[in-house]
Order: sequence, then C-alpha cells, then structure tokens
Amino acid sequence: MAPNQDNIKRFRRQLLRWFGLHGRDYPWRRTRNPWRVLIAEMMLQRTKADQVERVYRDFFTKFKKPSDAANASSRTFRSTLLPLGLHWRIGNFRAVARVLAATPGERVPRTRNELRLLPGVGDYVAGAVSSVAFNQREWIVDANVVRVFRRFFGVSTSKEGRRDRHVIDMAITYSDCRVTRKANLAILDFAALVCLPQKPRCVSCPVRKDCEFYQKGLARFTR
Ligand code: SF4
Repeated sequence: MAPNQDNIKRFRRQLLRWFGLHGRDYPWRRTRNPWRVLIAEMMLQRTKADQVERVYRDFFTKFKKPSDAANASSRTFRSTLLPLGLHWRIGNFRAVARVLAATPGERVPRTRNELRLLPGVGDYVAGAVSSVAFNQREWIVDANVVRVFRRFFGVSTSKEGRRDRHVIDMAITYSDCRVTRKANLAILDFAALVCLPQKPRCVSCPVRKDCEFYQKGLARFTR
C-alpha cells in the first residue's frame, strides 16, 4: 500500500536536513543555466558523475550556447563527447543543440512536456531539468529513487519500478514543495551516499528510525 502524503512529506523534510549537511557538489549544481543543466543531465545518463565532470568542463569551454554546439565541426563535437563512452548517444546531443539553436533566444524549455519533445530526452531528464534548472514542481524517478522508496516506505514495486503508477505518485508528492530542486537532489544524493544498492549504510542513516526496511531487520541481509 502506498504511504500517506504526510509520511512522504516528513521523509522529504528529513532528507532536506541531511542534504544541507551532506549534499554533493558538482559544477552543474553551481549553475541554473538550463543549457548546462540539460547537457549535464544527458551526460549523467548511464555515466558516473566523476567521469562526467571532465567532459562537462571541456564541453562548456567550447560550446557556451546551443548554436556553438550546433555549428561545431563533427570532429570537434565527437571528440569532446567520446570520453563519455556510449557513442550512440552523441547524435542526441547534436540533435538537441540544433533544435535549441533554432529556437528564439536559444531558449531551453522549462516544462516536462516541452522538454520531452527534445531528441533523446525522456521522463527522467525532463523532470530533472525542469526541477533543477527552473525549480518547477516536477518529479523524478529512476532506479535509485525506486530503491529508496521501496526500502523506506516498504512498498512493493515491479521490475520496472520507475514506471509503476504508485511510485510516480509518491514522487509527485515528494517533489511538490517550494524547494523541489533541493528535494530532488537530496534523494539522489541520499541514494548514492547512504541508501546504497548493495550495502545500505543503515547504522549511520539519519532516517532509520522511520525506515520499514531497517525496522523489519532486513538490513542484515544486505551484508
Ligand atoms: Fe536505506 Fe537503511 Fe536508511 Fe532505510 S535505514 S533508508 S534501508 S540506508
């Protein structure tokens, strides 16, 4: 059964407190420039943040705005993104740059639905850009968010949990606040630093008192 809204809001408050002390710092978090946030989120798909950092800096040294990327030579463009691996993705970056370069003011859209229209931009990246760059009340769900919800609230999820309606509804409630940007970043960092996939750090977890997984003694099975 899905948790009630008050429990989700309390969980969000707890994570926001934790995030204030332990949130991670990356170059793409020091900006609200939506072009930068969009490209960073696309880079972070299937690539670790540390690996993205160097490519991110190089990319924005060369391509300060979408038209710079749209008009660059193929060789320059490819060689900038190749260290990310996953060559098949490079076309999406170029296609996005071209669409934005042809938009008045080279404006990155701010809503989930508009962002979803960009080439290669799915629900996760659209929600992340809308909430992180524009602080719109938009939800995000990936495998990490599903894991945290499943453990903390004790909900069951399907194999494709990120598509489960009740998981999305929980994420909608979770992100519905004045500080959606921070709330969404908080749950991502919490999943990466505390509620780890294999060995969650339950003993030092700030929310263990309210966590179903911990309270049922399931944490010991992860060691
Ligand atoms: Fe995750 Fe353990 Fe914290 Fe529960 S107590 S949220 S399982 S780290």
